[in-house]
Amino acid sequence: MDNLKTTKKVKHKNIVPKHTIVWKECLTLIKKGIPNITYNTWFLPIKPYELENNTLKILVPNNYFVEWIEEHYNTLINNTISQVLGKDGKLVYLINEAEEEVEDTTTLPQSTEQKKPDPIIPANNFNTNLSPRYQFDNYVKGEANELARAAAIAISDNPGETSFNPLFIYGGVGLGKTHLIQAIGNNILVKFPAKKVIYLSADIFTTQFVESIQTNKVGEFSKFYNELDVLIIDDIQFLTGRERTQDLFFHIFNNLHQARKQIILSSDKPPRDLKGMNERLISRFNWGLTVDVQPPDFETRVAILKNKSLSFGIELTNEIIELIAYNITSNIRELEGTLIKLLANASLNSKEIDFELARKTIKEISTQKKQTNISIDNITRIVCKEFDVDENKVREKNRKKEVVLARQVAMYLSKKLTKSSLKTIGLHFGGRDHSTVIHAYNNIEKLTSEDVSLNEIVTGLKNKLELGL
Ligand code: ADP
Ligand code: MG
Repeated sequence: MDNLKTTKKVKHKNIVPKHTIVWKECLTLIKKGIPNITYNTWFLPIKPYELENNTLKILVPNNYFVEWIEEHYNTLINNTISQVLGKDGKLVYLINEAEEEVEDTTTLPQSTEQKKPDPIIPANNFNTNLSPRYQFDNYVKGEANELARAAAIAISDNPGETSFNPLFIYGGVGLGKTHLIQAIGNNILVKFPAKKVIYLSADIFTTQFVESIQTNKVGEFSKFYNELDVLIIDDIQFLTGRERTQDLFFHIFNNLHQARKQIILSSDKPPRDLKGMNERLISRFNWGLTVDVQPPDFETRVAILKNKSLSFGIELTNEIIELIAYNITSNIRELEGTLIKLLANASLNSKEIDFELARKTIKEISTQKKQTNISIDNITRIVCKEFDVDENKVREKNRKKEVVLARQVAMYLSKKLTKSSLKTIGLHFGGRDHSTVIHAYNNIEKLTSEDVSLNEIVTGLKNKLELGL
């Protein structure tokens, strides 16, 4: 790290910007006040961005950093800033989508200075919205994403010229759709720098469209999109139910497709399941290649964890990697989250990352998940679906046998899985009082101990809710 910094400094000797100098001074002070591991984990990845009057803007890799730093080191930061910038000194955090500076702090073999463009300055003055952190070479290949990845690579070699037009990638959250479709964009720009590539989510597309209507600029809006070489739209499911946006998108799609321009879409479900999406669009989504990404298998999870931990600058034993891979199975975002949390825990307690700490962290994450995802409403919805009864009936005084059972199961699970009081739970089910909830709880305990199939259903519901499915 020191070496890297030194070479950087020598290289830009006379043009070191003021914000860099100021942030360096801050770092020197911060370093004195905290353990090394904390410094390396939380402060080194930060990049200075701009100094304006007395306000220093810094780029942090993600929100989690801001929250963590503010929570644990607010005073240290404030003191440092007023020492360096004076009493009126201010610090502003900016989230750096690029995030590759995390690698700067690591012992990774690749150099950090070459490749990626500065995320703030758009290529060719054209804002692509692409984040350089999404590349093919940091996308771990596995059975679950093999086909999607192969198609993505093929497209980036030959945009618009393969039969994969559009490329439609679908799958659940955190499985790497955004990563993959942005990697295509980034790669196309390396090979064909003059191409107009744009990435955006369908939500933003819709917002822009609505704004263009309000400002009488629909013509300009469609012109802009019709002139692209590569259009990448993420989370296309956001277009469902938005008919006017769909109409406009339909025309843009046709124009681009006809002109052999590449269209890349992602979605949380396959085209046929997009309720509220115009049939003619659905049929076009299937014109090229529709391919899914699945949750990663164990081996892929291990590979991803190895890869990510290295890029975070830590080396974990196989035992720890396997422990995480074994326990965190749902998606890749969660694998990443676990690593970040593990780092945080290590640095918070000035501890080495060992098996015990990993175990504790995983446990913390699963309890956290339970608390955040489970609400009485959520429970009611899922229970009613399982028992096929109307949610409203469960909230009313309906005494039909199957409604009563669903209601009691919902009350039972609400008591088990949330921290709500008996009174609150009763209020959610038609204003019943706490003794009714106790009765329901006891009754379901009894019934599940006697009835194997009911027990199975209730356990299944509990697992489903705890896993946030
Ligand atoms: P989605 O768009 O499907 O919800 P993302 O593309 O945002 O998922 O992926 C979530 C996180 O996991 C991102 O940080 C991404 O870089 C990472 N990720 C996903 N798939 C892979 C993979 N195969 N290899 C490495 N990192 C991955
Ligand atoms: Mg996404």
